[in-house]
Amino acid sequence: MTTTVAAYAAPSSKAPLERTTIERRDVREHDVLIDIKFAGICHSDIHQAREGWGEAIFPMVPGHEIAGVVEAVGSGVTKFKVGDRVGVGCMVDSCRECENCLAGNEQHCLRGNVGTYNAVGHDGEPTYGGYSQKVVVDEAFTLRIPDGLSLDVAAPLLCAGITTYSPLKRWGAAPGRKVAVIGLGGLGHMAVKLAHAMGAEVTVLSQSLRKKDDGLKLGADHYYATSDEQTFKDLAGSFDVILSTVSAPLNFGAYLSLLKTNGALVNVGAPEEPISLNLFSLIGGNKVLAGSAIGGIAETQEMLDFCAEHNLGAEIELIEASQINEAYERVINSDVRYRFVIDTATI
Ligand code: NAP
Ligand code: ZN
Ligand code: ZN
Repeated sequence: MTTTVAAYAAPSSKAPLERTTIERRDVREHDVLIDIKFAGICHSDIHQAREGWGEAIFPMVPGHEIAGVVEAVGSGVTKFKVGDRVGVGCMVDSCRECENCLAGNEQHCLRGNVGTYNAVGHDGEPTYGGYSQKVVVDEAFTLRIPDGLSLDVAAPLLCAGITTYSPLKRWGAAPGRKVAVIGLGGLGHMAVKLAHAMGAEVTVLSQSLRKKDDGLKLGADHYYATSDEQTFKDLAGSFDVILSTVSAPLNFGAYLSLLKTNGALVNVGAPEEPISLNLFSLIGGNKVLAGSAIGGIAETQEMLDFCAEHNLGAEIELIEASQINEAYERVINSDVRYRFVIDTATI
């Protein structure tokens, strides 16, 4: 048995997204049915909808920054009740048994986690994401949105928030530490807010000074344009940690030169093309080049609680579903301030 719900889908990688309907399963024992209120647009939605990362499953209903309200629960659900404010991020299932799942790193499930969309569930059915009016998710992959956060600004935390919180915490954004964030987009603006709240001295490295006033308001202490060659001279050897949130290939060698000895350049951006790197830029100064993928479920809850405690939501531009394709173009042109969020009532 299924329920038909309205959604926005890409019919193919070459076609714009359009209104359609999809089927949602009836709640099983451990499922919650979520009435979706808001869905963020992540650059990953665009990479996937246009097959920039390789072959994808169509029709595709993107959206892995979901915030809504519980409408029904299965008989075995213990964490949630009808009316609770909840979120769903990039995963809706994993094996729950492997070493990584048991350690709370479901994003690195050794048998592969199940993506919120562009994936196939353990029941063999394709998954559809948040650009829709309802979703059914196992309670183990459902997050609680704390009371202090409104749902619209909380939605982007489910991907942009956790993807920046996890590496900032792991690599030591803290008082006395200098952290740079490359790219002031959806992930980047959350990284600035989070690193500032963690007590670090924060520098934004953006392509231009166009968004400087915003960056400083978000919590940055310094703001530089990477289009200016002088920036790389002035900031050489400055940072303990640099977080790259850039969606396109970058000259990582140049950014490694901005690290202190033993510093770490942590990349979360997922460009469609590879980069090349002269490894001497790593050897000199014992530098670290690291990656990071979202975060586990427990850490995502920790991040939401941290954001509520520090009153951190995303800066959003609320749009109607009919504006999704236009929003995609603006994201691609780095013209987002700082996350598009779809009001799903308009689907
Ligand atoms: P976004 O909102 O488009 O932000 C990316 C920012 O990168 C832009 O705002 C721009 O900032 C900068 N940028 C774009 N093109 C550039 C270029 N050619 N050179 C230098 N800087 C450039 O995207 P997002 O949603 O934050 O996602 C960022 C990337 O992270 C995407 O590739 C996405 O797929 C990936 N991602 C990864 C994970 C993970 O788990 N690792 C999770 C979510 C997303 P300025 O205008 O300030 O320069
Ligand atoms: Zn995302
Ligand atoms: Zn697993």
